[in-house]
Amino acid sequence: MPIKLDETKCKGSGECVDACPSEVMAKTGDKCVIAKPEECVECGACVDACPNQALSLDE
Ligand code: SF4
Ligand code: SF4
Repeated sequence: MPIKLDETKCKGSGECVDACPSEVMAKTGDKCVIAKPEECVECGACVDACPNQALSLDE
């Protein structure tokens, strides 16, 4: 899975859901989840959009 979520840092703000062009991220209550990891194109938009540095891409 190229995109990684640190759930301890995620506040469920949702910027990553809006930023992702492939609808990889989804909100569930007060957290988000990597709903469709196979759709990730590793663009990095969600990493830049997250205000809490909860998302990262594998090298
Ligand atoms: S933008 Fe960051 S803190 Fe907000 S829901 Fe996404 S991963 Fe969580
Ligand atoms: S890296 Fe791009 S495609 Fe992958 S989850 Fe983040 S915004 Fe979506």
